Amino acid sequence: MASHIVGYPRMGPKRELKFALESFWDKKSSAEDLKKVAADLRSSIWKQMSGAGIKYIPSNTFSYYDQVLDTTSMLGAVPPRYNWTGGEIGDDTYFSMARGNASVPAMEMTKWFDTNYHFIVPELGPDVKFSYASHKAVDEFKEAKALGVDTVPVLIGPVSYLLLSKPAKGVEKTFSLLSLLPKIIPIYKEVISELKAAGASWIQFDEPTLVLDLDSQQLQAFTAAYADLESALSGLNVLIETYFADLTPEAYKTLIGLKGVTAYGLDLVRGTQTTDLVKKDFPKGKYLFAGVVDGRNIWANDLASSLRTLQALEAVVGKDKLVVSTSCSLLHTAVDLVNETKLDDEIKSWLAFAAQKVVEVNALAKALAGQKDEAFFSSNAAAQASRKSSPRVTNAAVQKAADALKGSDHRRATNVSARLDAQQKKLNLPILPTTTIGSFPQTVELRRVRREFKANKISEDDYVKAIKEEIKKVVNLQEELDIDVLVHGEPEASILQRNDMVEYFGEQLSGFAFTVNGWVQSYGSRCVKPPIIYGDVSRPKAMTVFWSSTAQSMTKRPMKGMLTGPVTILNWSFVRNDQPRFETCYQIALAIKDEVEDLEKAGINVIQIDEAALREGLPLRKSEHAFYLKWAVHSFRITNCGVKDTTQIHTHMCYSNFNDIIHSIIDMDADVITIENSRSDEKLLSVFREGVKYGAGIGPGVYDIHSPRIPSTEEIADRINKMLAVLETNILWVNPDCGLKTRKYEEVKPALNNMVAAAKQLRTKL
Ligand code: GLN
Ligand code: ZN
Repeated sequence: MASHIVGYPRMGPKRELKFALESFWDKKSSAEDLKKVAADLRSSIWKQMSGAGIKYIPSNTFSYYDQVLDTTSMLGAVPPRYNWTGGEIGDDTYFSMARGNASVPAMEMTKWFDTNYHFIVPELGPDVKFSYASHKAVDEFKEAKALGVDTVPVLIGPVSYLLLSKPAKGVEKTFSLLSLLPKIIPIYKEVISELKAAGASWIQFDEPTLVLDLDSQQLQAFTAAYADLESALSGLNVLIETYFADLTPEAYKTLIGLKGVTAYGLDLVRGTQTTDLVKKDFPKGKYLFAGVVDGRNIWANDLASSLRTLQALEAVVGKDKLVVSTSCSLLHTAVDLVNETKLDDEIKSWLAFAAQKVVEVNALAKALAGQKDEAFFSSNAAAQASRKSSPRVTNAAVQKAADALKGSDHRRATNVSARLDAQQKKLNLPILPTTTIGSFPQTVELRRVRREFKANKISEDDYVKAIKEEIKKVVNLQEELDIDVLVHGEPEASILQRNDMVEYFGEQLSGFAFTVNGWVQSYGSRCVKPPIIYGDVSRPKAMTVFWSSTAQSMTKRPMKGMLTGPVTILNWSFVRNDQPRFETCYQIALAIKDEVEDLEKAGINVIQIDEAALREGLPLRKSEHAFYLKWAVHSFRITNCGVKDTTQIHTHMCYSNFNDIIHSIIDMDADVITIENSRSDEKLLSVFREGVKYGAGIGPGVYDIHSPRIPSTEEIADRINKMLAVLETNILWVNPDCGLKTRKYEEVKPALNNMVAAAKQLRTKL
C-alpha cells in the first residue's frame, strides 16, 4: 500500500510563513524567530502526512522563498554582483538574490510553467564557479528523521535546473546552458552522497521540463545527466517526477530509458494521454507514481473514478509497483479546508485543499491494497453526486444561452476603421488622445472606508458618499490635467493588484464562492486568493453601472466604463473541472456582455474590458496554443459584439511580450488597446516595423508605473515620436503602462502632467 505526495505548500494554513518573513525583513523579529516558525511548519506538515499514512513523504519542498533559488544556493551559483565570498550561503545573500538590497536589485523572477507561482531565474555564464553552498536538502532530511519521519528528499533535477536558467549578461546569444551539465553534476553527487550517509533510501528529482516541447539535444541531456549520476545513485531508489502536462512520446521514451532510475512520477490529471503511453510500454520492475489527485485545483477527487484508473494501471505495471500520488506539488492549491468558516457545508463537501488531498491519496492507496474505507468512499461518492445534480451548479438558462453561441464567431458588424470614424464623430477627441488605465492611487483613507464598510462599521450611505467624493476628486484632477478620456479611479474595486480585479466581479456574479484562507503562494511571501467558480455563471444585476454613470454625470468628457474580461476572470480563479474551461469562459463572457450593454444604455460611450491575464493562460505546449487563443479571443468578442458602432471598446493588457500572439490580439477586434510597454519599447515596435498591419487604436504605455520615478516631458515626447515612426498618427493613444493604484499622488500628478504636456507638444507639430 503505497502513497506519495510530490510537494506541499509552505506558507502554512494561515500564512504563518508570510508574516514571519515580512516581520523578519522589516527587522521586527530575529532570524531565530523566523527559523522557529519555519521548523514548526515543516514539522506539522511531516507529522500530518505520516499520521495520514503517506509512505513517501517529501522533504526539502519547504522554502524560505523559492525552490529554484534554493537550488541556485545549493550549487553556489550566486551572480557576482551579490559579492558572495564563498562558504555556506547565509540569509543575507539568499534574500538579496530574492529581493535585492540597498545597492543591488533582485534576480529576475518568472512564472513557473503555466502556474501563478513565480521562481527566481538562475543566471549562468561560462565563468560560474559551482560549489556545494547550501546543505538545506540534507538538513531537512535529518530534521524530519529526528522527528521520526523518514522522508524522500526532493531536488530539482540538474537538467530542468539548467533549462529554466538564463544566460548571464553579455553571453545571452552565444552561451549554451546545457554545457554546464558536467560542472553541476559533481555538486549533485556530493549532495547525494551526504543524503545516503544520512540514511535516505529514496530520492526524488523534479524534472518537469520533460513535459515541454524539447528538441533531441535537450532530451539527450537527460540521458547524459542520469548516466553520469548512475554510480553515485546506486543503493538509492530514484524517482524522476514530471508534472503539468503529458510527455511527448519521445520524452516518455527518454524518461523510461534513463539509467539508474527506479520510478517515474506522471501527472495523470493534465496528462490526458499519459495512461496510453504507460499502457503501451512500461519497463518491467519499475515503479509508477501515478498522479491522480489534482495538485492544481481545489476540487475533491472523484475517488471511484481514480480507483478505476489505478486498477487499470496496476494491471500494467504490477501489483507492488504502483504508488498513488498527486499530479504535481500541492504548492499550487490552498492549504486546509478546516479554516474555511464562511463556506457552507454543501460547497465544502465538494472541495479538497492540500490537507484533504493528502487524505485522498492515502485512501486511494488503501483501497488499491484491498483495505477500502467504505465510509470515506461513500461520502465522497455522495458529494460527487450532489455536485452533479445541485441546482446551484446548473442553471438551465445559462446553459442554453452558452449553447446558442455555437455557430457564430461574434464579430461586430462594421470594420474597425469605420467604427473609429463613427466614434470620433461622437467623441471628438484630439489626435494623440490621452487616457489612463483605470485605477488611481489608493489612499490610506480610502482603504479605511472600504474596510469599515466590509466590517459593517459604516452604513452603505456613508460608504457610497465617501466613494462618490473620491470619484469626484479623481474626475476633477483629470480635468485639471486636461486628460481626454477619463476614468473613475476604481476606488470601490481595487485593493490589491489582482485579487480584486476578479473578486469585485466574482462577488456580484452567481456561480462564484470565496474562501477566507484559500491562499496560494505567488512569489516569496506574496499569496493570492483565487475565487472558486463552482457553477454556471450569470449576472443577477448590473455591477458597475451605478459607479460609472455617477462618474459620467460629473464631467462632460467621456468616462470609460471599467470591467475585467472573461479570460482574466477565468485565469485568476479556481475553475470548475466538470466542464471544459472554454465553456466556463463563454458563460462569463455572456455575463460581461450584459454588463457592457447596460453600460452603453446608461450613456457610457467608452468601455474598457481588461484582459490582463490573456497571455498567461497560454498552454505549455505549442500544439495547444491555437485552440486556446481561439476560444479566449472569441470570449472577449462575445462581450462586446452587440454594441453600437459609436461605442468605443478598449482593452488593456499587462505584459509587453505579445509579439508571438499579435494576430490573436488583432482578432480581439477591440477599438483601442492599451498595453504595458515602457520596459521594452523596441520589442513591441519591431512587430509593426516588420509590417504587421494594425488599424485599431493602440496605446503602448509611455511610462513605467512600477517605479516611483517621474518621467520628464521630453522623455515621454521622445518615446511617442519613436512610436509615431512605425504607427499611424491617427491610431496612437497616449497613456501610462498600467493602473496607478500602487503609486502616490505626489508621483502621479507630475507624471500625468508631463504626459499630457508631451502629447500637446507633439500635436502642434503634426
Ligand atoms: N483597470 C485596472 C487598473 O487600472 C487594470 C489593472 C491591471 O491591468 N492589472 O488598475
Ligand atoms: Zn496592466
